[in-house]
Amino acid sequence: MDLPTPQQLAHFFSLSLDHFCVAGADGYFKHLNRAWQRTLGYTIEELLSRPYISFVHPEDYNATVQEQQSLDGGLQTLQFENRYIAKDGTLRWFSWNAVPQPDGNIYAVARDITTQKQDERDTRHLLQRLEQKNAELDEFAYIVSHDLKSPLRGIMNLSEWIKEDLGPTVKPEVTEQIEMLQARVARMQRLIEDLLKYAKMNTSDASMELVDLNTLIEEICSALLVPAGYKILVPQPLQPILARSSEAYQLFQNLLSNAVKYRSADTGSVVITQTSQADDWTFVVEDDGIGIDPKHHHRVFQVFQRLKDAEEIEGTGIGLALVKKIVEGMGGRITLASTLGHGSTFTFTWPKSPNGQNG
Ligand code: ADP
Repeated sequence: MDLPTPQQLAHFFSLSLDHFCVAGADGYFKHLNRAWQRTLGYTIEELLSRPYISFVHPEDYNATVQEQQSLDGGLQTLQFENRYIAKDGTLRWFSWNAVPQPDGNIYAVARDITTQKQDERDTRHLLQRLEQKNAELDEFAYIVSHDLKSPLRGIMNLSEWIKEDLGPTVKPEVTEQIEMLQARVARMQRLIEDLLKYAKMNTSDASMELVDLNTLIEEICSALLVPAGYKILVPQPLQPILARSSEAYQLFQNLLSNAVKYRSADTGSVVITQTSQADDWTFVVEDDGIGIDPKHHHRVFQVFQRLKDAEEIEGTGIGLALVKKIVEGMGGRITLASTLGHGSTFTFTWPKSPNGQNG
């Protein structure tokens, strides 16, 4: 095949979306393709007539001059970023690759990355806002639950005094009603305690440590009320994970206590397994309990959401919301596979190194 003629080459470069140039040792552009004109709004003649540094945003002068000096010293430029000021005053971000030539010129290609930079900035802002909103929400839940606690304590005390003042001759229905009132206040107190636990999660300063899960699960089992025939099985010893120990405890405590609470038979079981991936551990907690209808899978991870099938069983509906917050706070994911009457399988990932997540 014949080599392209200079005209063909010039035509070829004029079509490029990237910005090609030859820059001279005197600080002026020597050749530019059409892309420059399209992006900056100056004619090629205007761009050739001024030192190129005069088009650079003042905040990027120093970095650009330094890069220029390292090119003069024979080094290549790879993905150097700076801003140019277009004719209409707007800024364009460029990412540069450049090589010095023996004749003192520099051959360079610049890519317009303005949109990418704007997207990055928008995403950063969005994340900041989201973090701020989340913190505000947690703080709100914390304050509200704190403030709700004392009037509830007051109601509890008052009802106790009323009961005492009424004495033993009171009608049994009245005693029953007062006890119902107290039971509801007690439930409200548990809800508030759990909400507080949820709001405080991920805000703790506790540091990460290697947590021995085998000991942790033994501790959880000894604190749980497990029927004699029910089995909590760990077929293979578990490898330690990097975690805040209180979070690891709450995570497994909630999953295991749910497995026991929502069992379909006292002779049932729950099995915990762990497998290793490149960057994460995968844990599977599989029970043979009452199961969860797929149409409710998303609900069970929400705060205060309980299912009809569980109404008889004591709970506040915070456990799985807490589990999800702990797992996602570490950068992991949790999923549920279950159908009604056929047990539930919770699978979650846990990063092997926390990558600075949550401190
Ligand atoms: P709680 O147990 O306090 O109700 P959770 O947030 O832990 O709250 O669970 C939410 C709901 O999800 C429970 O009320 C129950 O209906 C259902 N659930 C959770 N774990 C299981 C399980 N292992 N098997 C069946 N249902 C479950």
